Amino acid sequence: REFIITIDGPAGSGKTTVAKALAKKLNLDLLESGAFYRYLTLRLLQSDIMDSQFSSDEIFRKKIEEFLSEIEIKISPEGTVLIYQGRPINNELRSKEVEEKVSEISSHPVVREEVNKFMRRLIEGKRVITEGRDMGSCVFPQADLKFFLTADLEERARRRAKDVIDRGLEEVKKNLLERDKRDSEREIAPLKVPESAIVIDTTNLNFDQVVERLEMFIKR
Ligand code: C5P
Repeated sequence: REFIITIDGPAGSGKTTVAKALAKKLNLDLLESGAFYRYLTLRLLQSDIMDSQFSSDEIFRKKIEEFLSEIEIKISPEGTVLIYQGRPINNELRSKEVEEKVSEISSHPVVREEVNKFMRRLIEGKRVITEGRDMGSCVFPQADLKFFLTADLEERARRRAKDVIDRGLEEVKKNLLERDKRDSEREIAPLKVPESAIVIDTTNLNFDQVVERLEMFIKR
């Protein structure tokens, strides 16, 4: 039967690396929801629909559906791989241009509805660990176990800066702050602690300690 663990939290809270480690240990498929928002942002940036300020909702929805139908997804304990026109595009999804725009795009209700529908279908009947901003609160409220990871901004920026190659610490920090603000203040599906979630502050914990702590709850 379906089995779902959700991990939500702000960027740099460690949720992705922790989810990855747990996915492998527990042999669960890893669904990285941010990848879908990043992908749609990339496609929208490349299309002229951006200029028309999302035109009508009807046309915009059609476009989003079309974009989503053009990717092939592989989810496994290794992570979520997005394949577009025959090749994996995960690296492009981490670019500066995408990160500057993704919070704005993901605050659009049509985008969220379509991504959610897409993800729910994708994991039907599977055993997964999912990570994002609203996995436990909105998308998979029925999850078997919910976690919420946090950490101080400084620490999160330091961690994130290690993953990006196109900018330095200060710029990463500024972007994190802006995204956090937008993600928590938006009207639909704001970043927040889901009901019944276990909250873990990872500021002063190293990677192994975080993984250990989550495992402890999972094994209970
Ligand atoms: O987790 P990641 O950094 O890849 O997410 C990129 C952006 O996608 C977030 O800043 C947020 O704006 C959006 N997002 C979201 N809901 C999710 C996952 C990501 O709005 N469940």
